[in-house]
Amino acid sequence: MARKKKGDSLTTYRRKRDFRATPEPSGRAKPARGKKAGRKTAAARKRARLAFVIQKHQATSLHFDLRLEVDGVLKSWAVPKGLSLDPANKRLAMEVEDHPLEYGEFEGVIPEGEYGGGTVMLWDRGTYFADEAEPEEDDEAAMRRGHDSGKLSFFLEGERLRGSFALVRTDRGARATHVARGEGRGPKPKWLAIKHRDDHARGDHDPVEEYDTSVATGRTMEDITREEGASPLGAVSIGPMRPARAETLPEGDDWIYEELRDGPRVLAYVTPTAHRLVQDNGKSVARAADIADQLGALASRTGRGFVLDGVVADLPRTGRTYVVSDILYDDGDVLLDQPWHERRARIESLFKRRRVRGVRLADVRRRAGATLEKHARSNGWDGIIAKRSESAYRAGEHSDDWRRVDIS
Ligand code: MN
Repeated sequence: MARKKKGDSLTTYRRKRDFRATPEPSGRAKPARGKKAGRKTAAARKRARLAFVIQKHQATSLHFDLRLEVDGVLKSWAVPKGLSLDPANKRLAMEVEDHPLEYGEFEGVIPEGEYGGGTVMLWDRGTYFADEAEPEEDDEAAMRRGHDSGKLSFFLEGERLRGSFALVRTDRGARATHVARGEGRGPKPKWLAIKHRDDHARGDHDPVEEYDTSVATGRTMEDITREEGASPLGAVSIGPMRPARAETLPEGDDWIYEELRDGPRVLAYVTPTAHRLVQDNGKSVARAADIADQLGALASRTGRGFVLDGVVADLPRTGRTYVVSDILYDDGDVLLDQPWHERRARIESLFKRRRVRGVRLADVRRRAGATLEKHARSNGWDGIIAKRSESAYRAGEHSDDWRRVDIS
């Protein structure tokens, strides 16, 4: 049987999600593991262990997502009560769209209002094999055949769950292809997850009750929600500080003069595992997924969470660029009450010697006058914002501490 192309299989997954808004992987990046690369002998392929993961997901309702690697994607089922080790407990499992392999490493918070909004915990992970493969049939072929026929049998080798399980499709009407083809608006194909009778079956022991922390990080759902929420400043999104309009620039040692670019004003909420760019109208920013990913990579490289303020501008030389002018939160510190020059020092230290594609700091000059105007014009600035060097960040307010002059 021909292998399904990865692109086809993930169409539904991608259509349901706005990757400018959610920290979930798009599945377009190269998988971190080079597992699919290179040629394998038939024997090696047959023994190759496939990945599985179970994620605990507090969305509209709590459920466990069972995901099994087949043909370069994660076949996925939402299991409201989670898997049981008791062969007498058949658990409902609703098949959902295929997910990219990278999803198997996702733990974090999907923003409110996005598809599946809520907290996701890595609850169990490991490898599995098809345990009713025909001779000469490799694991993935056996899983494909089982999926088509509506009965999958597989042996989990997880950190928490072990043993042989079956998934049995109950409604013949809802075909598997219904989901895979993205016609998933109708009822989801229903399966039952059943523990086979083997040495690992237990009637007296419910793993869902026993394990309530992340298998990857040891965190509870509450920890993850608190630490990975798309806004490190808390549930409340903050508004940007706004300048007063001015005819002329103020002068004096207590002022600095900053590059202003036309474009949407954007706050970037970034943690090592979650990032979101939000316009001041509350909407996610169009065509800025690369910028968001780059900032996410910076956060995971530095282990810092931060909130930046800036403008997403289309610049002649660098194209779509996030021109960063302020930082409101950094590495556990809320910086709103710090003077501008302290915040500026923070951004400079965050970006110091780190190239972040599509992102740069706003240019700042120390003196007003003809030299500043010449500099601004020759660099194509759209305006100049004078900022009082000692001023705090007044979220959501117009302030006389910032004064804006357009360049005509
Ligand atoms: Mn889910």
